[in-house]
Amino acid sequence: MTLREEIRSWLAEHLSGEFSAARGLGGPGREHEGHDIRLAWERRLGEAGWTCLGWPKEYGGREATLEEQVAFHEEYARAAAPARVGHIGEGLIGPTVIDHGTEEQRRRFLPPIRRGEELWCQGYSEPGAGSDLAGVQTRARLQDGEWVITGQKVWTSLAHVADWCFVLARTEPGSQRHRGLSYLLVPMDQPGVEVRPIVQMTGTSEFNEVFFDGARTAAANVLGAPGEGWRVAMATLGYERGASTLGQQIGFQREYAKVVETARRTGAAQDPVLRDRLVQSWLELQIMRLNALRTMTSLSAGEPGPEVSIGKLYWSEWHRRLGELAQAVQGREGLVADGPPYELNDLQRLYLFSRADTIYAGSSEIQRNIIAERTLGLPKG
Ligand SMILES: Cc1cc2nc3c(=O)[nH]c(=O)nc-3n(C[C@H](O)[C@H](O)[C@H](O)COP(=O)(O)OP(=O)(O)OC[C@H]3O[C@@H](n4cnc5c(N)ncnc54)[C@H](O)[C@@H]3O)c2cc1C
Repeated sequence: MTLREEIRSWLAEHLSGEFSAARGLGGPGREHEGHDIRLAWERRLGEAGWTCLGWPKEYGGREATLEEQVAFHEEYARAAAPARVGHIGEGLIGPTVIDHGTEEQRRRFLPPIRRGEELWCQGYSEPGAGSDLAGVQTRARLQDGEWVITGQKVWTSLAHVADWCFVLARTEPGSQRHRGLSYLLVPMDQPGVEVRPIVQMTGTSEFNEVFFDGARTAAANVLGAPGEGWRVAMATLGYERGASTLGQQIGFQREYAKVVETARRTGAAQDPVLRDRLVQSWLELQIMRLNALRTMTSLSAGEPGPEVSIGKLYWSEWHRRLGELAQAVQGREGLVADGPPYELNDLQRLYLFSRADTIYAGSSEIQRNIIAERTLGLPKG
């Protein structure tokens, strides 16, 4: 049996009983849905060895090839399995610990991620440091064998459910820009950490402000050498889009199908301008899939190249246009919620949340700068 067949039959068997209610729950813009059942599902997946497939066997992974990981993500999305609650651990901090951690750190932090027992959040952005991340002001100093951390992070996705946060902090007083930063691993459940949810225009809160006021973590919980955090932080960003990209495509296809179905129902499919936009959107979806496959090929060959920026720019701009199209095909019904408790429908939520796609994981302007400078060799703007 291939890995694809194995995961397909495992999902068919296990997304049943108590977990059948979890189908389709969660994901960007819908992280508030069914957290508890999704956490239980994450642990079930972990028990069966279906998390962290690409990790080395000694840390509980399967050393699956990129193609096998893609097959997993495609089957997972096809089965409408619930969005993973452990994706920041599996996709961002896990690979960073594997590549930049000590053996002791790997043994401490990797198994609970793999088993779905510890969830993580990413503490990079601050009120004065977003695109320009080197402006980080949060500071930490060593005192009595512990790092003591003071400062504020913002837009911290899922901090309200996270057990740990990886925090970029200034540990050399007076240092500037990307020098003198350290990459600290900080437990969230302690008196010095306060999490305040930010209400988004979808009405839900997926990200937060996080205040550190004398928060503490052990001196050993620094990834890479103290003062060398920038290099480690950049490595984490490099993992931000990997094998899960092709699973994302299947989610996009499903959303697109819903837009077409709605256009048929409301009569928008008869409108020549909207028909044109629907066809254009479909064509771009096909191009995106082919480009994602090409990116996978170059990732298997080694270092990610500029296609990562091109891919991010392309999918996020496309998805935002799909959100606008989703509103257009609904006509007037897209402008109102159905009645108390005024829940948004899927297409309204798609429209509102897709506005964020061109901001997180590097805004479109930043991606264009990267493509201009590193691929086209244009001078800095
Ligand atoms: C849904 C969502 C989830 C997020 N989750 C997290 C998280 O978990 N952890 C975390 O640390 N952060 C998170 N972020 C924050 C995200 O990384 C930042 O929003 C992003 O880096 C942009 O930074 P900023 O918001 O400070 O905007 P700014 O950097 O202030 O940018 C404002 C505008 O100026 C433009 N701009 C900035 N610099 C340039 C330039 N050099 N050239 C041209 N244009 C420029 C930008 O493109 C943007 O349009 C999240 C954001 C969103 C929307």
